[in-house]
Amino acid sequence: MKPPPFAYHAPGSIDEACNLLSTLEDAKVLAGGQSLIPLLNFRLARPQHLIDINRIAGVDRIYERDGGVAVQALVRQAAVEDSDVVARVCPLLTDAIRLVAHRVIRNRGTVCGSIAHADPASELPAVLLALGGSVVAKSTRGERVIGAGALFAGVFETTLAPDEVLVEAWFPSSSKPYSVIEESRRHGDFALAGVVRASDRLALFGVAPTPVLADPRDPARGLEPSRDLEASPDFRLHLIRVLTEQAFAA
Ligand SMILES: Cc1cc2nc3c(=O)[nH]c(=O)nc-3n(C[C@H](O)[C@H](O)[C@H](O)COP(=O)(O)OP(=O)(O)OC[C@H]3O[C@@H](n4cnc5c(N)ncnc54)[C@H](O)[C@@H]3O)c2cc1C
Repeated sequence: MKPPPFAYHAPGSIDEACNLLSTLEDAKVLAGGQSLIPLLNFRLARPQHLIDINRIAGVDRIYERDGGVAVQALVRQAAVEDSDVVARVCPLLTDAIRLVAHRVIRNRGTVCGSIAHADPASELPAVLLALGGSVVAKSTRGERVIGAGALFAGVFETTLAPDEVLVEAWFPSSSKPYSVIEESRRHGDFALAGVVRASDRLALFGVAPTPVLADPRDPARGLEPSRDLEASPDFRLHLIRVLTEQAFAA
């Protein structure tokens, strides 16, 4: 299917993108397009305006700051996968990225786009939460930092305002022991359920409307995963218990 009609904008700077977002009704940022374009094609999203940030220079850096690694808005997932800085400072992120889809998708998909998209079955939001990372959001009103614990609000929902651009995600360094383990039907598919261990912290994905922190001694407590064609709620809870055991045995 083809996407519904929209007006296309290609700002040359983040400030210009913020101006467009603040003045246009019903506008969406377009980054790697790996989630947004399928949503348009299936007519599950019908924004009137697309703000394509791909031509903005200077927002594709990966760099160390504050004992962690910062990943700017246009950094592709593949660049993070190949980054020496990320491998040294936050190897948990390197491991997690390799579980995201396939390399061709990671060549276009961005880390910040994955976080902004907030798919409950995504690896990267759970990594951000397990590590206690944060994001920087920018709008015409200025910049603010949002901690991972305050960012994920529901299925495909964050506390980013509609006029904000997520300009940077910051991942604290991952010291050992860490692991990310998931179960999916086929390599590259979204996970049925997954766990991220960062020292003694545990974050789960695929089992709640958002990634959640859990108690490693009783990780499934209070969870009510959804039922779909892929897995029953009980099976997802079983997976969480088994994957947590593996993560903490490793
Ligand atoms: C076949 C397939 C398999 C996949 N498997 C996985 C998987 O296993 N795990 C996984 O995590 N993901 C998976 N994905 C999704 C992929 O990781 C996407 O790249 C990612 O979710 C979105 O990043 P993007 O840069 O493509 O964002 P886009 O598709 O461009 O945008 C997604 C959403 O985020 C918003 N957005 C993007 N960037 C910003 C920003 N800087 N500021 C504010 N809002 C922004 C957009 O407005 C849109 O609402 C898969 C995708 C495909 C097509």
